[in-house]
Amino acid sequence: MFSSLAGRSVIVTGGSKGIGKGIAKAFANEGANVTIVARSGAEVAKTAADLDQECLGKVRACSADVGQEADVARMVENAVDAFGGIDVLCANAGVFPQKKIVDMAVADWDRVLATNLRSTFLCVKAAMPHLQKCGRGRVIVTSSITGPVTGYPGWSHYAASKAGQLGFVRTAAIELAPMGITINAIQPGNIMSDGLADLSDAYLKTMAASIPLKRLGVAKDIAAAALFFAAEEAAYITGQALVVDGGQTLPETLEAIDA
Ligand code: NAP
Repeated sequence: MFSSLAGRSVIVTGGSKGIGKGIAKAFANEGANVTIVARSGAEVAKTAADLDQECLGKVRACSADVGQEADVARMVENAVDAFGGIDVLCANAGVFPQKKIVDMAVADWDRVLATNLRSTFLCVKAAMPHLQKCGRGRVIVTSSITGPVTGYPGWSHYAASKAGQLGFVRTAAIELAPMGITINAIQPGNIMSDGLADLSDAYLKTMAASIPLKRLGVAKDIAAAALFFAAEEAAYITGQALVVDGGQTLPETLEAIDA
């Protein structure tokens, strides 16, 4: 049994849907007060209102683009104003448009890197003084298996951003340690989320068949890992990455699964 997270102030970027919404709900169910962040004002407001109703902790919305420094500063201000500080930052927002290198414009590359990687740096830098102040600050970054472990055509920019996050985490862990802040990453496999809605049924079925545990993940699977990294009991873990993928990256060949 882990110590309570009740009353902690938690920021979850990309918290309006998918994995981020699952993370926000898990923290709020533990009695934490959560600021969820996304660009779409209406959607993030509705998700916050819903979670605020159904969960133990308070949930507030902030409409911001995590790739923009001024927006990130406002996001941090909002969380501090609402809940008196910041204990946990979940840098989760991300985009994964698919485009092969041959068709990729510099703007496509820059947009993905800004949303997925520059945002990680911006959010950590802006939240750092508050995470230090609370004396037990936690940063939890949503990376991926795509990039650090695997590759897939059309996702070279995405893969680079997700591998980049892990590089950032390892050095940030050393810099943040004297401030009493830990930083760790979660590497989800294929998780059913709104972001995967465009993928065909055939692709999703093939994916599930190629996973030793025979199903795609759900947001709750990732949220459980986030709660663990935020727990008092994880205080001595920093700079690490946890793969949560149902064993997807383990088989040497597809034949290995049903051998
Ligand atoms: P999703 O369902 O598409 O949700 C993405 C969230 O991020 C939304 O709340 C979105 O809201 C927000 N967002 C996107 N760009 C943003 C920006 N510039 N500023 C602020 N918020 C922004 O995606 P997901 O599947 O839950 O993915 C969440 C994270 O998990 C991502 O980092 C992704 O790379 C990672 N991941 C996902 C999977 C998977 O299988 N689903 C696997 C590995 C890793 P707005 O669009 O309104 O801004």
